[in-house]
Amino acid sequence: MVNKYLRAVAYICPYCSGITEMNINIFSFSGDSAVYLKCNDKICRESIGMITPHDDKYKISLLCPLCDEVHTYTISKASLWSLDYLSFSCPNSGIDIFFSGERKRVLDAVNENNRMLDELADEYERRQSELSLKSRIVDLLKKKSQHNKVRCKCGSSNVKLFDFQDKTFIRCSECGREFSITASYEVADKLSDDSTFIF
Ligand SMILES: [Zn+2]
Ligand SMILES: [Zn+2]
Ligand SMILES: [Zn+2]
Repeated sequence: MVNKYLRAVAYICPYCSGITEMNINIFSFSGDSAVYLKCNDKICRESIGMITPHDDKYKISLLCPLCDEVHTYTISKASLWSLDYLSFSCPNSGIDIFFSGERKRVLDAVNENNRMLDELADEYERRQSELSLKSRIVDLLKKKSQHNKVRCKCGSSNVKLFDFQDKTFIRCSECGREFSITASYEVADKLSDDSTFIF
């Protein structure tokens, strides 16, 4: 049985990725004061958001751990204190970022969502490093071709670089031969030295 005016709330810190779980009760809002949502990590301690009472509602504003925007949610006071579980999600990603209700359910939900957050962050990082590797390779190719050091098997170094559907291609202006560049560290290494790149 859940205490009528006691709820666990949980959220994920955008600064340190730590999970903060705390209890709120009806007295937390006495005198219509706001409850501040801070990271409870001993070192971080960043302010993440607040719950503000307003008439018969609470306004929850929270800095999102996914998109770094502040999201605002409104819930009736009656709902907050009567629901055993509720969550609010980031409108950009659909991932839940604020949880309230019975402690065990809240903790299970925040842990599950934090795992998804980690996966999304890894995916994002992987894409970013792929993109930066690709642009490095394009830069190296451009530099080389300015010095006529990108050459087709036909002997011509009159080449053009172009992008098509996520890939970078070199085309020989003499014979029309095309070559697609795969972004890898190996290719980047190969292009970094002074030699002529033959495709
Ligand atoms: Zn933190
Ligand atoms: Zn968001
Ligand atoms: Zn050619």
